[in-house]
Parts: sequence; structure tokens; C-alpha cells
Amino acid sequence: MPFLIFVIAAGFAAGHIAAVWAALLLEPEVPVGLRICRGCRQQISFVRLLLTMAVPVTCPACRQAGRWWPVAASTLTAAAFGLLSWLMLEGHCQTVTEVRPAMALWQNRLPFHLIFVFLLTTVTITDLLDYVIPDSIIIPGVCLAVAFAFLSGELQLIHVWVNWDDDYVKLYGPYLPEWMKHHQHLHGLVWSLCGLLTGAGLMWAARVGAHLILGVPAIGLGDVTLMAMIGAFMGWQPTLCVLAIAPLVGLVLGLGGRILTGRSFVAFGPYLCIAAFIVLCIWRLLWEGIQLKIIFSHWPTIAGMVAGAFAAFCVLLVGLRIFRSLPAERLR
Ligand SMILES: [Zn+2]
Repeated sequence: MPFLIFVIAAGFAAGHIAAVWAALLLEPEVPVGLRICRGCRQQISFVRLLLTMAVPVTCPACRQAGRWWPVAASTLTAAAFGLLSWLMLEGHCQTVTEVRPAMALWQNRLPFHLIFVFLLTTVTITDLLDYVIPDSIIIPGVCLAVAFAFLSGELQLIHVWVNWDDDYVKLYGPYLPEWMKHHQHLHGLVWSLCGLLTGAGLMWAARVGAHLILGVPAIGLGDVTLMAMIGAFMGWQPTLCVLAIAPLVGLVLGLGGRILTGRSFVAFGPYLCIAAFIVLCIWRLLWEGIQLKIIFSHWPTIAGMVAGAFAAFCVLLVGLRIFRSLPAERLR
């Protein structure tokens, strides 16, 4: 319990740092009202900015009230840190039969994932405020993920390859390639890089497909680099789950947001981030509960599903193109 309180407090601070970092990256080009006062355009000192956490920062010069979004970011990050830690340590939401790390989760994988959540928060803020996913967040994130995966060798949600699709499995349990057991660090590196390539590669294909079909760039390069980072932190199997869940998150939140605010909302990055967080929280359910381990043991099935999903995506885009090209009168 004291550990959980500590993690929630750390989450609150991390959310605030994410907000300040995002403001540093966006201002002065985009007035987000954190570092630069919206009233007198004066810069608010960095120390004051970092120390004023639970309330909006009031401008010391003109007394202009600060904005509430940084406080909302802190609160949501604190909730996300607390929820993930509780689910991991108490709910065993990531504990699967095949992966038995020697180190306790709270010493090893939990901090790794909390850093990941912090990076996702920062990206969500910049994407919501200005539709950008800066490389200065993604590049350090990817390097950190790959380096930690290599150094630790046991941060994986699931190993890079686990075979449940065999008669042998019924007698002796899942088959793991022999080299993985003897080369823990190499496996960590391969695991992270496979995730990176899966995330970036599929998003890149979606970007090219969307551009060709719609005739205009529809998916930003930022979404491709974001998926590279998500892949490097999670491995290829969870990354495929993120890509499958993100459109559902978009549908629910996009429609909900449209109904509540009357504003249509086009940034895709936050949906990817939320989907990644959901997969972290329900990994055991996906792997063992709905038995994705069977699908992920059989590469022709995976290839078929990815190809099918990509075809469905293209059909959807063609539909969108036809819908857009209809004259406005005919739509009424
Ligand atoms: Zn001011």
C-alpha cells in the first residue's frame, strides 16, 4: 500500500513534467498557456513552473490565471500509474505461464512500463495541442527501450517466439527456441527490435496505402515513429494487439467527443497511446483468456490476419474516398 501511494505521487509529478516538457517543445510557436503567459507574453520561470503542480500557474507579472490542462494531465497520469501498478502487482495482469522473470516485477518491468506511460503521456499532450509527435520524445524513447531490453533481458510481456501449436505442447508445455534460454540479453535485444520493426513497418504500410488511396497524406510520420516506440517497449505480439484495439478506442472516444463537444477530432496518436496502455493492463486476458497464444504460435495465421486487416483498411479508405467525392447536395 505505501508503495502504491508512492507510485501515484510519482505519477502526479511525471504528468506535470510531461506537461512542462510538451510546453517547452511547442511554445512559443503554439500558445498553450503554460510556459508563456497568455496575458502579457512573459516567460514564467522554469523553477516556478516545475514547483507549481496541483494548481494552474498564475502569472507573477499580470496575475493572469493559468490553464487547467496541466493539472488534468498530472491527475490522469497519477491514475494511470496507480492503475497499472495495482493491476500488475495485485491483479497479475501481465503474469503468463511462459514468462518467469528472475527479478520481481516492481524492480524491473514496472519501472520500465511507467517510463513508457510517461512518454506516451507527453506524446498525447503534444498531439492533442498541436497534432505533432516530436522526434525529441520518440528517439530517446526508442533508444531507452532497446537499451533496457538488452541490458535486462527479461522485460518482455511475452518472448519473441512461443509455440503452442504442436502435439508436443500437450505433454511438455509450450516450446521455446533453445537459443532464447541461453542468450537472455540477445533475446531481449531481438525481442525489442522485432516489436520496433512490426510497429513502424505496419504503420508505414498504412501511411503509404492511405496516401495512395485518398490522394492526400492522412497518417502522419509521427504516427509511424510512435508505433516504433510502442513496439520497442512492448514486443511484436502486443503491438499487433495495439493496432487492432486503437481503431475501437478511436471510434468510442471520437464519437463520444463529437457528441459531447460537437468538435471532430483528428489526431490519431492519443488513440494509439490509450490502446497501448489498455494492452499493458489486460495482457494476460488477451494471451491466456482469449487464447491469442494459439494464433501467435502459427505464423501463416498471423500473416493472414495482418493481410486481412490491411485489406479491410484499404476497402474502408476507398469507401471514404467515394463518400468524399459525392457532391454535397446528394449527401443531404
Ligand atoms: Zn502575464
